[in-house]
Amino acid sequence: MILKKDILLDNNPLLRKKSVDVALPLSKEDEKLLDDMLEYLENSQDEEKSAKYDILPGVGLAAPQLGILKKMFAIYTIDEKGKEHKYALVNPQLVSNSVAKCYLAGGEGCLSVKKEHKGFVKRYYKVKMKAYDYVSKQDVLLNLKGYVAIVLQHEYDHLFGVLFYDHINKNNPFEISENDIEIK
Ligand SMILES: [Zn+2]
Repeated sequence: MILKKDILLDNNPLLRKKSVDVALPLSKEDEKLLDDMLEYLENSQDEEKSAKYDILPGVGLAAPQLGILKKMFAIYTIDEKGKEHKYALVNPQLVSNSVAKCYLAGGEGCLSVKKEHKGFVKRYYKVKMKAYDYVSKQDVLLNLKGYVAIVLQHEYDHLFGVLFYDHINKNNPFEISENDIEIK
């Protein structure tokens, strides 16, 4: 089981490293990691369990956040329309993206970042990502937009050693362009 102490914080240089491709079919060890990551996210969103295990709520978790530099991350969340999104992606690749950008009105957070970083994080409004999905046990081509697309891009960034606040404009943190779409 993954606990708070297992999640690296952003003072750890491993969070700035690039992850490597994962061998398929998955090893038992990699499957266990993905199961644990999904379990963490589910527990963290359950009031009773998050209190019991003293864990912070999260909608996504990437292997590098656990010090494992492999291209894998898990997502468990509900979108604007109430649809559940549960993925455990392996070797994800961004295939295409919209020109339009979006941002979360309240900014982003991360289980590896304690300090608050105010400002908008611009992301693509729509993305297509291909990967092997351990939840559905098949290759997938995800076509996502809005909030879930933001979560996906946040986790994808972790595989390249990028953290959300890297994207905040230092000189003008709340700058928006006319066509940027705000996600509540
Ligand atoms: Zn994060």
